[in-house]
Amino acid sequence: MDDEVRTALAARLAAARERVTAAALSAGRDPSDVTLLLASKTVDAPTVRAVLESALATDEPAPLPLLGENRVQELVAKAPELTDLRPTWHVIGPLQSNKVNAALRWASCVQSVETLALARRLAHRSHEHGRVLDVMVQVNVSGEPTKHGVHPDDALALALEVAALDGLRLTGLMTVGANSSDERLVRAGYARLRSLRDEVLDSGAPGTSDATGLSMGMSRDLEAAVDEGATIVRLGSAVFGPRVVAP
Ligand SMILES: *Cc1c(COP(=O)(O)O)cnc(C)c1O
Repeated sequence: MDDEVRTALAARLAAARERVTAAALSAGRDPSDVTLLLASKTVDAPTVRAVLESALATDEPAPLPLLGENRVQELVAKAPELTDLRPTWHVIGPLQSNKVNAALRWASCVQSVETLALARRLAHRSHEHGRVLDVMVQVNVSGEPTKHGVHPDDALALALEVAALDGLRLTGLMTVGANSSDERLVRAGYARLRSLRDEVLDSGAPGTSDATGLSMGMSRDLEAAVDEGATIVRLGSAVFGPRVVAP
């Protein structure tokens, strides 16, 4: 990879971090409470590596960003090329049941749990391997039919059932925000996710005490998400540049 590309990637990562920090400060939050996840779909492993290496090379030690893949096939292809950097992978897209073993091999968190059937399968497999898998319940706060996630009215019930499963640790809720230029609409969705998260925590139900996370906000709207309480923002194009191929 040529140096110009490397420099551009490093500059975009730094700019993205600055956006997150500025958003946290203006919301009166501690910037270290917002974790950056790089959504690396369609991005090849050498490019992901260049970004991670630039993160490691900064003077101010910041934690390595998380990596997120939508498709397990891509995760399985890229993860082995990056093991020396020890990144933490999250699955952030729909997971088919026949891909559960492959996902478990590489990912430490599945953010995209939207059915009890998937949760049970993940729980069963991870229990079998003697481990505990972090999961988030994905909620479709925008109601857009093309979006994945459980309906907000059903989210609390699903989250409580997931939280109770052995082999899983519920760490919070995830959503893909409304695809809209109307900031009030986008924010309302994020506020909804936060209040659902509060209901999960306030329930005091078994396994809910770690469900503090809110994975929300992407390149176009991270400021609104951080202002509404995001603990993980998932950035793709802001760091890697515009995607050439649709996901
Ligand atoms: C692609 C993707 C992102 C990042 O989107 P950008 O607009 O490129 O920042 C975040 N979350 C999910 C689930 C994605 O598929």
